Amino acid sequence: MNYRHAFHAGNFADVLKHAVLARILLHLKAKDAPFRVIDTHAGTGLYDLTSEAAVRSPEWKDGIARLIGTSLPPAVAEILAPYLAIVGPLMGKTRPHYPGSPLIALALARTQDRLSFIEKHPVDSEKLKGAIAGDRRAKALALDGWLAWNAQVPPPERRGVVLVDPPFEEPGEFTRMAEGLKAAHRKWPGGTTMLWYPIKDARSVERFTDDLAASGIPKILRIELDVDRIGGEGPLAGTGLIVVNPPYTLEKEMAVLLPFLARRLARGPGAASRIGWIAGE
Ligand code: SAM
Repeated sequence: MNYRHAFHAGNFADVLKHAVLARILLHLKAKDAPFRVIDTHAGTGLYDLTSEAAVRSPEWKDGIARLIGTSLPPAVAEILAPYLAIVGPLMGKTRPHYPGSPLIALALARTQDRLSFIEKHPVDSEKLKGAIAGDRRAKALALDGWLAWNAQVPPPERRGVVLVDPPFEEPGEFTRMAEGLKAAHRKWPGGTTMLWYPIKDARSVERFTDDLAASGIPKILRIELDVDRIGGEGPLAGTGLIVVNPPYTLEKEMAVLLPFLARRLARGPGAASRIGWIAGE
């Protein structure tokens, strides 16, 4: 386990992932019934952007920094509002911080909602416990997120979202993700699931999405953002999200947000975005 999210916090991939997570949670809040958030690879919850890791790898400067304190088209501002309302105050401090998925989820959850954060790395898991300390709605568990995913579904609330956001530092993670989804979907067909993936080479992604298309699971939305040409040297240039059982509003919101993010977060001429259904109803 070499991956440390502190080197990447607030980058373009975090922006997309966290903006989508916020939209999904907003939709879940439209009903009073409680929901559950299960974050299988939760990270530390809060990232100091003045830390040694963030200073050595200031990816956030080409990510969240391009959205804070700048003017946004009104339709984009509306879509990003719940996300930026959480990030803005933390970024505005003398010592700017960026919230991870657990703090974003906690900020949007209500008293009746419950959150399970799983983080296997012993140091990061302790940091996560500190970041959420005292919040009785949330539990941080130092477990293997792949196993916990299956063990935690369906949650007692029967409504909610699972975020699966592994580091992709080992071979076979696409297969693991697809198999994990198939098993979890059998147990909880109605839950919303977000799968995050990097786009390093297009062929691995196609194999993964073909596998999902052949799974028989309905309502799978694919969302992708490239900030540069894929396959070039240098840092990650493309990211994707699979959303199973997305809110009915998400596709329209992404049709507005993605082209904007591709322009605003572009690092090179290959910036682009795509949205489409892998499987419909
Ligand atoms: N979801 C976080 C967010 O959006 O703020 C970022 C998570 S980061 C991409 C991936 C995390 O997974 C790392 O903190 C890493 O320590 C953790 N991790 C790696 N293998 C794991 C496993 N088998 N189970 C749970 N966590 C794991």
